[in-house]
Amino acid sequence: MNRWFYKPDKMFLARLPHDGDLLLSIKNVFKESGIQMGFFTAIGAVKTAHVAFYDQAAKTYTDFIIDEPAEILSCVGNVSEVDGGISVHAHITLGLKDGTAKGGHLLEGTVIFASELFGVALEGQRLERHFDEITGLKLWSS
Ligand code: ZN
Repeated sequence: MNRWFYKPDKMFLARLPHDGDLLLSIKNVFKESGIQMGFFTAIGAVKTAHVAFYDQAAKTYTDFIIDEPAEILSCVGNVSEVDGGISVHAHITLGLKDGTAKGGHLLEGTVIFASELFGVALEGQRLERHFDEITGLKLWSS
């Protein structure tokens, strides 16, 4: 197991824009604030969602659209570096009209109805994502 220790630097709340892209809006908040390492949660609602499921055997993502208004029951993720820029890795659980939940790995194409973000900037070593042969994913390594 690899682990890295951080101190919380600053914490912030942000209201994300109506009709904005959820993943890109989260990324913009961190980028505009000059934060390279962080953690966040978001709640709210979306008009439509684009998420993915990672097939561990095939090592590929299968994406799908949830094309209906839904509550963001939980959206959690982190911010680190990849290929010289920042990378936002987020997962989302959506509550549908009938009370069931769907979700997955958050992709671009998820349209915000309203959303509130709580972010934490972390102070310490910058982590970068690199391709991992075993999982086929870009994982942290120092
Ligand atoms: Zn993921």
